[in-house]
Amino acid sequence: MIREFYQIPLRDRNSFGVEQHAARLVEFENDDDLRAVFAAGVPARWTVLGGGNNILFTADYDGLLLTPVSQEITPIEDDGMEVRLRVEAGVEWDTLVEKCVEEGLWGLENLSLIPGKAGAAPVQNIGAYGCEAGEAIRRVHYYDTATGRSETLEAARCAFGYRESIFKHALKGRAIITSIEVVLTRTPRPRLGYGDLEREVAARGGATLRNIRDAVCAIRRAKLPDPAERGNAGSFFKNPVVETAAAEALKARYPDLPRYPAAGGRVKLAAGWLIERAGLKGHREGRVGVHERQALVLVNLGGASGGEVIALARKVQQRVEEQFGIRIETEVNLL
Ligand SMILES: Cc1cc2nc3c(=O)[nH]c(=O)nc-3n(C[C@H](O)[C@H](O)[C@H](O)COP(=O)(O)OP(=O)(O)OC[C@H]3O[C@@H](n4cnc5c(N)ncnc54)[C@H](O)[C@@H]3O)c2cc1C
Repeated sequence: MIREFYQIPLRDRNSFGVEQHAARLVEFENDDDLRAVFAAGVPARWTVLGGGNNILFTADYDGLLLTPVSQEITPIEDDGMEVRLRVEAGVEWDTLVEKCVEEGLWGLENLSLIPGKAGAAPVQNIGAYGCEAGEAIRRVHYYDTATGRSETLEAARCAFGYRESIFKHALKGRAIITSIEVVLTRTPRPRLGYGDLEREVAARGGATLRNIRDAVCAIRRAKLPDPAERGNAGSFFKNPVVETAAAEALKARYPDLPRYPAAGGRVKLAAGWLIERAGLKGHREGRVGVHERQALVLVNLGGASGGEVIALARKVQQRVEEQFGIRIETEVNLL
């Protein structure tokens, strides 16, 4: 069943809390609902709005927003060791993670407390603490607006990469994800190699699923501002990946430059470090600012419009490019 809204305020539907409106918003449950919505043709402007945790409305949206609200998590295979779950697009991602931890299923615990819905997880292949959703996702079910057909894509064809997938490229503006299938295991598989995780888990008594989830949640709460208190969309920029020669040249100028190995022999740099060294950590402009503890995060200090946030983002990009010769791209989707 669908629910339809017109001229709807978006403030409570985006984690930045910006005060923009949408011309039309439809909440849907399944493919048949989508078929009904598109029966009269595909509107000129439409997009999916999940929880709005990775979207910035830079102005009012004059098209159609589609929000999945289906909530089922259904076991579809269990061989005693591995369990396959079908998760509807409207399920809160962290509800899924908590359920897996509760039931002793390994695979998603490092991805605890990432805000948003399950349907959005494949889009940017959400990742944290050395893990990515694409490692657990086996299939993605979507409605294809170009053909009106329901389709299934195996993970191998989703082109998962660092904050990347086919849904940001070939299927962008075409696929509406209606559910995902994830495979979890009952065999303990702790992955603690990232940052402070091993120490935090040890402090809680060892590598159980519950301890790992609690440790990830504690670290995240200490580092990231809560959108309920201060509007933000997590990391606003992606970490840039550059050629080795460019990283070496920068390292000669900045000996403490953090560098991480990336695919294809390239080097990943820390966008937060670049922003901080450009002197912008904690920088404020009116009702928006760069977070004082995490320079990758832009914050709404109260009542800001999307236009104010994007103006600050452009300034950050420009200052980093002037100082380091590197263009940092936005991770947040701009509308
Ligand atoms: C405090 C905070 C911390 C965060 N930490 C992390 C982190 O650690 N790691 C990480 O990877 N991300 C992180 N994020 C970003 C965000 O949580 C993820 O991108 C999440 O997947 C967004 O889910 P959402 O439902 O809010 O998607 P939205 O923001 O609503 O949408 C994001 C994009 O996906 C598209 N989309 C959403 N649902 C569908 C669908 N069903 N079908 C097709 N397209 C769809 C939208 O059109 C949009 O382009 C963080 C955000 C915040 C606010």
